[in-house]
Amino acid sequence: MPAPADPLALGQKLVAILESGRRTATYKLAVLVALLDLAVESVPENPEAPVDIDLDELTSRVIELYWRQMRPLDGNQLRQSSDGRGVILDAVAGLRSQTTGPRELGVGLIASRDSGAYMAAHSRVKRTLIRYPLKLLQNLTFGDENERFLYDDSWMGTDSRTAVASHGNRLTLFPGVCLTLARLAPLLKPAFQLAWVDDVRRMNKAVLDDGPDLAGHLFGADRVSLQRAGDALADKFGPSCFYCGTTTTRVRHIDHVLPWSRVGIDGLTNLVTACQSCNINKSDRLPAPVHVERALDRGRKVLDEIAAEINWPSHYDRVVAAGHGLYATQPVNTPVWLSRNNITTLSRTDIDWRRPETS
Ligand SMILES: [Zn+2]
Repeated sequence: MPAPADPLALGQKLVAILESGRRTATYKLAVLVALLDLAVESVPENPEAPVDIDLDELTSRVIELYWRQMRPLDGNQLRQSSDGRGVILDAVAGLRSQTTGPRELGVGLIASRDSGAYMAAHSRVKRTLIRYPLKLLQNLTFGDENERFLYDDSWMGTDSRTAVASHGNRLTLFPGVCLTLARLAPLLKPAFQLAWVDDVRRMNKAVLDDGPDLAGHLFGADRVSLQRAGDALADKFGPSCFYCGTTTTRVRHIDHVLPWSRVGIDGLTNLVTACQSCNINKSDRLPAPVHVERALDRGRKVLDEIAAEINWPSHYDRVVAAGHGLYATQPVNTPVWLSRNNITTLSRTDIDWRRPETS
């Protein structure tokens, strides 16, 4: 049993994964980014509690990451491994090619629409994740020990469904690891994404010069496709800026209340219409919690209904969980965005976040 997670030591080990030599594929990075997002959404009441991460959910997040990245860039399909192949990418690419309808909808909707194809791809990806990247992730020679520092992987390295089922279809983050990952996420996620961009650039030298915005392509929010969500929100809640109330009929921006760069949630619950000045001024800053409360106060039922009408994910629970995780892991006096040119500080009372509604 490892000692409770020391944040600095854990951070160093994760950075060591980045530096542990030339990667031949981006799968470990995908697992790490997905784990960071899930850690933020899973911060426990008791910081020292072990935290279960559902392997189906982790798999879905990895598929979601690659699904977005498989959009062609300047007509090119980018490689994510040195030899250009791999079970995980093949599975996601296969799913894309079988899918009818607009692919930019997001894989979550493909899952509900064409569940047979999705489940088949999901199962292949999951078994491969357990067999390789999840098993190999912690293989570091760090000092003279080869100690597991995130979760017990002794049973992994198999694609036996029985083995996975007998371990509850989950991995269990060691005590303290989830909170530490959530706290380190603002530092580590951009670092992993940068490494990922570097890897993809190296693996696609033949087709990429320094021209295209590769980071934006791999990790940016998809502004164009958000327009449909913006129209539906304006129809329902009026054509005004969520933050300052200005009418947005002329120029309407769609803002991620919890910043896209932090949590990557583009479900309707995390989207609001905003005027250009508020949207630009808020940028990637963490908003004051009151804005997240207000976004949630639009009501789960209403948001779910609009989402269903326009065939869009709602992500109500994810916003609640990510909001809880983001604020609970900030130091007191963290600057937060209240309104245009108005930065305030997070106070302890602000982060007394409600738990997910169960209804
Ligand atoms: Zn505004």
